[in-house]
Amino acid sequence: MTDKTRIDDLAVFGGTPAFESPLPVGQLYLPDWTDFERLFRGIFARRYFTNHGPLVRELDERIAAYLGVRHATNVTNGTVALMIALRALDLRGEVIVPSFTFPATVQAISWAGLTPVFCDVDPATHMLTAENVRKLIGPRTSGVLGVHLWGRACDPDALQKLCLENNLRLLFDAAHAFSCTWNGHRIGGLGDVECFSLHATKLLSAMEGGCLTTNDDGLAARIRTIRNFHVSESFVQVSLRINGKMTEAQAGMALLSLDMLPAVLERNQCVFDIYSRHAQTWCGLRLLEAPLGETWNHQYCVLEVDARLAGLERDELLEVLRSEGVLARRYFYPGLHRLPPYFARPEHGNVLPVTDELCKTVMQLPLGARVSARDAERVGRLLGFVLEHGTEIRKRLQQRGAQS
Ligand SMILES: *Cc1c(COP(=O)(O)O)cnc(C)c1O
Repeated sequence: MTDKTRIDDLAVFGGTPAFESPLPVGQLYLPDWTDFERLFRGIFARRYFTNHGPLVRELDERIAAYLGVRHATNVTNGTVALMIALRALDLRGEVIVPSFTFPATVQAISWAGLTPVFCDVDPATHMLTAENVRKLIGPRTSGVLGVHLWGRACDPDALQKLCLENNLRLLFDAAHAFSCTWNGHRIGGLGDVECFSLHATKLLSAMEGGCLTTNDDGLAARIRTIRNFHVSESFVQVSLRINGKMTEAQAGMALLSLDMLPAVLERNQCVFDIYSRHAQTWCGLRLLEAPLGETWNHQYCVLEVDARLAGLERDELLEVLRSEGVLARRYFYPGLHRLPPYFARPEHGNVLPVTDELCKTVMQLPLGARVSARDAERVGRLLGFVLEHGTEIRKRLQQRGAQS
């Protein structure tokens, strides 16, 4: 492709799309086929498919060692991990949680029979702060569920202190944060328990999968008991259990994914750095940079669109990019507090001005297995071109809208 030189070159106005095969967001890394085949031959030879098989046990151990936590328990997916965590902590009543997150974070609370109470986030980090959480603590509050959004730790020290003072349990949704550090240690041992997702779009992939990590031996025993219905796997008394077992196939995939991690991290960083370099020339877009002094997984490239400076609204920019085959996405729109089953239910709290603003301005650029360094350079230049002509493109989009 030659670069766009005129506004008419843009696919949204009839030009040829920049990318023949579209670039999705999400990690989507796959292991080598021969490794995958070898692994599956092993599963077939052993005829051991699920129920805490050797691969699941190996994965539990390897993740615990990698993260530096006492216990890692792998389960079906990240949502089930959250549901089990909430049950294992024996929470009652209300749990304080952000609305600016993936629906699973909040709906897991509902599945656990608890009431999510939405807390607004910090405009700079997009995450809960202890200060915001403090205002929502009431007689029915029993826990706080923070999200390490975009792989940054969610105010762990201050939240831990606040929870101790108020006799609340603290857990984290760490779906974005595998391999990221906080204070130099890998995330996984913060709060009472942390939950990871091993979905195909995440850094560590079992295609579907989830993992609970904790340093609390008693809690780990409860988690392992709740995860399944087998009497032989009963370590402690629990009131309710579920089938949240990970299969050998999933664990095998995740073990291969763990082996690939160094290469994947390096590739993510390379693409991110290209975006970051271009971002210095993009007017009206703020790119969320790596957290200072920490190791980061570069799983997401997140931008905030300032429509006054960019000349276009976020959704207009997305339309232009998507028509070029750059499947950039808005995130968490319109906010869980604006969707059923939580919308217009005052018990969940719904005055969240920062969240509302972020839902209108945040977007993600493609990053992962399907995006090469060369692709990233082209996306960078394309965005540069679009922003240079933002106001004019917007006018044309509106004219087109008026004609149709
Ligand atoms: C992906 C994700 C989840 C859910 O994980 P699944 O494995 O898809 O169930 C939960 N929270 C956040 C923030 C996520 O990004």
